[in-house]
Amino acid sequence: NRHADICTGCGARLQTESADKPGYVPAAALDREPVICQRCFRIRHYNEAASVAVDQDDFLRLLAGIAQTDSLVVHIVDLFDFEGSLISGLQRFVGANPVLLVVNKVDLLPKGTNLNRLRNWVQQQAKQQGLRIVDVIMCSAMRGIGFERVVQALEQHRRHRDVYVVGATNVGKSTLINRLIRDYSDLDSELTVSRYPGTTLDAIRIPLDDGKAVIDTPGIVYPNRLTELVPRRVLQALLPEKPIKPLVYQLNERQTLFIGALARFDFVQGERQSFTLYLSNALKVHRTKLERADELYAEHAGEMLAPPSKAELEEMPAWTRHSLQAPKGKKSDVFISGLGWIQVNGTSGAKLDVYAPKGVKVLIRDALI
Ligand code: GDP
Repeated sequence: NRHADICTGCGARLQTESADKPGYVPAAALDREPVICQRCFRIRHYNEAASVAVDQDDFLRLLAGIAQTDSLVVHIVDLFDFEGSLISGLQRFVGANPVLLVVNKVDLLPKGTNLNRLRNWVQQQAKQQGLRIVDVIMCSAMRGIGFERVVQALEQHRRHRDVYVVGATNVGKSTLINRLIRDYSDLDSELTVSRYPGTTLDAIRIPLDDGKAVIDTPGIVYPNRLTELVPRRVLQALLPEKPIKPLVYQLNERQTLFIGALARFDFVQGERQSFTLYLSNALKVHRTKLERADELYAEHAGEMLAPPSKAELEEMPAWTRHSLQAPKGKKSDVFISGLGWIQVNGTSGAKLDVYAPKGVKVLIRDALI
């Protein structure tokens, strides 16, 4: 009796009666080897087909196609790399279709962070970018935080239309879609991979029970994020998986912080004040005097100052300098795309120099936290 079998994917008891209960497998698929439930089968199928990435030009061509549909567009951004993962110009390409902004990875923020304030911040930034959004949802696809809100918002805003999911690489799009498949898709119809007309690019259609579908588009590659410029091993260190433990440094002017050999932060001029670093906990920070910084880097880059290692540094672009001025009267962040940000806690202004691999987006913004 195969009904007593256990799904080798999730461990649920296999059953053929209720598609909406764990362990469901259509009777016809019972002799598949190894026997896994419909949900696990789909998640596996999705993960095999996913992870397609495209450059901006191809992506914008796909987006132009979305404008001709009547659909809901779900734009997933990474809270940890907000400016790096927001698709600029999205509004122009989606036409009249509404955009739902899903901000992923909220689990990374230190405990006690005010999510409402954050949401306002996101709304403000999106507006400045010219995005008209119907709603902002904060969630963690990995931890399942806020996920009911994601499903609720999808239902509320899609009104029996298709849903296009768009996002840059590494924002957690496949993690989120895996959850959608588990909790939300129509288990009786088949997950399919189709191609965009005129391209070789795959999109994955995840059927919903009203005949419509969630359509997962390829991840867009933005080369101005550090996460796109580092070798694979360094990427693991950059992408935080656990809540960030902020590092606070009291600095006098003419002091320097090295973040591994990934970036350098010079406090050039200003009153003594504190700076808070929001980075992956796997990275090490080294403090020195500004006049010693060049020498320290020349001697220790790739060793004491790491990651990246010496060999990995050779695969990366050289640094360029960004001269920035933190404004007076409010707190701001120095944002380094893909690496994190440094909050300037003083409000008396500060002259700063930031060094980062050429091409990485570096900017001053209103403080997130
Ligand atoms: P995709 O390229 O957008 O499909 O992104 P993935 O789903 O492959 O995720 C990229 C990285 O982000 C992986 O290392 C995930 O473990 C991580 N990730 C995804 N969702 C979350 C989340 O909610 N919180 C955290 N901390 N990490 C996440």
